[in-house]
Amino acid sequence: MEVVDHLHSTDHTHHGTTYQGSCFCGAVQIAVSGAPVVMGYCHCESCRSWSAGPVNAFTLWKPEAIHIVRGADNIGTFNKTPTSYRKWCKTCGGHLYTEHPGWGLTDVYAAVIADFPFKPAVHVNYQETRLRMADGLPKLQDVPPEMGGTGVMLPE
Ligand SMILES: [Zn+2]
Ligand SMILES: [Zn+2]
Repeated sequence: MEVVDHLHSTDHTHHGTTYQGSCFCGAVQIAVSGAPVVMGYCHCESCRSWSAGPVNAFTLWKPEAIHIVRGADNIGTFNKTPTSYRKWCKTCGGHLYTEHPGWGLTDVYAAVIADFPFKPAVHVNYQETRLRMADGLPKLQDVPPEMGGTGVMLPE
């Protein structure tokens, strides 16, 4: 995680296009640069419970693609398990992102980077779904084999 003084949404450095995001109150501002590794929807119980929503729209990035623009000392962390370090704003409680150290990836919730062109490719943990989504995208029972899952596909 790289902390920078400032970034602009029109920044076109070697990182490529940068998109800004923030918590609910704006005390914490983040930015993502370049392209995510994968985007999609997670239906697992942990994502639903943490997000207080029926599904989590995720964008998974290499950690170096994420920059804390403002409020780094205002970011709280909660990890129920060693696989997910959930980050939130200490002022408003708004959620920001989840670090997955075992995968070397960080999920910046799509809703946090509202201007980013979210293009979901897959649904994961569909066996736990509470909101079936007939969008034609592949529905994985859990997660891909390269992330420790079975890779089994389920019907929509
Ligand atoms: Zn906040
Ligand atoms: Zn999940």
